[in-house]
Amino acid sequence: MNLPVTADQKLTGDEVRSVEQTSCCIVGGGPAGVMLSLLLARRGVPVTLLEMHKDFDREFRGDTIHPSIMEILDQLGLADKLLEIPHTKITGPTLQFANGPFRPIDLGRLKTRFPYILLVPQVRFLEFIAGEAAKYPHFQLVMHAQVQKLVEEDGAVRGVRYAAPDGIHEFRATLTIGADGRFSQVRRLAGFEPIKTAPPMDVLWFRLPKAPGESEITGGAFGGIGRGRIFIMLERTDYWQSGLVFTKGHYQELRAKGVASIRQSITEIDPRLAAQAEHLTDWQQMTLLSVESSRCPLWHKPGLLLIGDAAHVMSPVGGVGINYAIQDAVAAANILAKPLLTGRVTETDLAEVQRRREWPTRVIQGLQSFMQRNLVANALLAQKAVNIPWQLRLFVRIPILRDLPARLIAFGVRRERLKEI
Ligand SMILES: Cc1cc2nc3c(=O)[nH]c(=O)nc-3n(C[C@H](O)[C@H](O)[C@H](O)COP(=O)(O)OP(=O)(O)OC[C@H]3O[C@@H](n4cnc5c(N)ncnc54)[C@H](O)[C@@H]3O)c2cc1C
Repeated sequence: MNLPVTADQKLTGDEVRSVEQTSCCIVGGGPAGVMLSLLLARRGVPVTLLEMHKDFDREFRGDTIHPSIMEILDQLGLADKLLEIPHTKITGPTLQFANGPFRPIDLGRLKTRFPYILLVPQVRFLEFIAGEAAKYPHFQLVMHAQVQKLVEEDGAVRGVRYAAPDGIHEFRATLTIGADGRFSQVRRLAGFEPIKTAPPMDVLWFRLPKAPGESEITGGAFGGIGRGRIFIMLERTDYWQSGLVFTKGHYQELRAKGVASIRQSITEIDPRLAAQAEHLTDWQQMTLLSVESSRCPLWHKPGLLLIGDAAHVMSPVGGVGINYAIQDAVAAANILAKPLLTGRVTETDLAEVQRRREWPTRVIQGLQSFMQRNLVANALLAQKAVNIPWQLRLFVRIPILRDLPARLIAFGVRRERLKEI
């Protein structure tokens, strides 16, 4: 619906080309934003998704779809359709220690229709979910829309102002959702300050080719440790998604040593990868993930809610960022669809979303921090290959404990399910 531009807007000095109205205005077309858009649109809530890029194709930022998300997609009748997109599956990493390979986690044992992590290019996943949302008349997607300002009236957020290629526009909404990721502009505009911790590592992501006739790695993922680095490989349809984990703050040092030092790190960890490592010749082939873990003390204020990375950035240990972003979206849809349909969303409703999702976030962040301090930091200090820690060997022999890490990675601490389908 187009509303006339009011005198008040003209007085601000920004030339607002259009003012439109919706019930829920979602900022950010990442996993959290597209999923919440779909869930609200199918419940009949008028929803507008604003994404600043012109398409969903962005730098690599993880392609993992966990069992909990597959189960939610199954509830929506969409899991089999997603599986038609070319993909690979991971059931758990094979870790290469000095005294042999070891599999600490096996999702294949979990009791679910989807006992694996699905790897699908994130761009395909986002296009797929946005395409499903577009089937509902209440959904509107605006690409190339960069939110720059919150519209606030009487102490409440009433929408956003965004820059499009043809100028400034405004969306008024009962509820604005900040799903705009780890560098959230909405969070900054709302005046929320996340509490940050700096995990002890950073990750360089890149692709390595699959060698002809190369046999699969058991579980679809490989991990190796050596000389202050951890190397990870995830099996993709026609390449290896590879990551080199190194001590935080050492990126410039690595760069100064040149790409050859990255190739050397890989071959030191596993000499069989020497030929594949030769394909790395340029820093342009790599994406740096500056590892961060953070959480906003408050996720909401009247008329506004943060979800996904905007509310909490998860460390990459266990690769749960996308999983948690989508579970936030499911909880938000379960709690807010009815209030949005009646046009009355209270602070109590918004606080309920934070209450439901903050606790699982805290628990997983606590476990990630423990793993980082005890396993990752030790591995990064190791100057040579290490043996399988005896505690790990013992752990996987205790049936009641051995599947706990797999369950946590697969479903998180609190498994969100759609209440109304
Ligand atoms: C290199 C890298 C690798 C990763 N690997 C994994 C992995 O393997 N598994 C995993 O689970 N997680 C991984 N993550 C983390 C994962 O990407 C995030 O946890 C997840 O994407 C969060 O989803 P989100 O929807 O909250 O935010 P995002 O995915 O960050 O989406 C936010 C969206 O908001 C848009 N936006 C930002 N500002 C504005 C604005 N002002 N106006 C309009 N739109 C805006 C952005 O363009 C973006 O599309 C990785 C992250 C990085 C950086």
